[in-house]
Amino acid sequence: MFDRWWGAGRRQTRIRLFEECVALLLGVPAAGERLGLQPFTSLVVEADGAIEQVDALKSAYEGAAATGLDVFRHSFDDALAHPGVAARQAGLAALAGTCRACALVAVCGGGHYAHRYRAPDGFRNPSVYCADLAHLVRHVSARLRTAAGPRPSGKADR
Ligand code: SF4
Repeated sequence: MFDRWWGAGRRQTRIRLFEECVALLLGVPAAGERLGLQPFTSLVVEADGAIEQVDALKSAYEGAAATGLDVFRHSFDDALAHPGVAARQAGLAALAGTCRACALVAVCGGGHYAHRYRAPDGFRNPSVYCADLAHLVRHVSARLRTAAGPRPSGKADR
């Protein structure tokens, strides 16, 4: 899919996962939550005023998005201090040891937060899509290197 998207000649559709991967490989911070180590700063205010983490977390387990906070009694600064929200501001420190030691971590970032959940040890795991993410990041990196052309003589590849 990436090759079809990358080789289209003009942008026919947006695929944010691919856009974020290219940006991160080029050293540009990506705005999404699928890849990278940047803090994630979105919350949801439900119709009843409850402050929750983003809906995607609901796929991890029942109640995963709940914070117990609401806009009538709590500020958004209170929500930032909630352990579940704070964990998503901690970057590398919040990741599993396998991810912290991974050569791809600056781009992959452990993958989408919801995809790291595994009972009973919570979100400090590599993504359930670890192998796929590693394949994607390496493949996109290779395509970028090809697009950039040969390095000037005397400069070694890193
Ligand atoms: S999820 Fe897999 S590829 Fe991504 S940082 Fe962790 S170990 Fe590396």
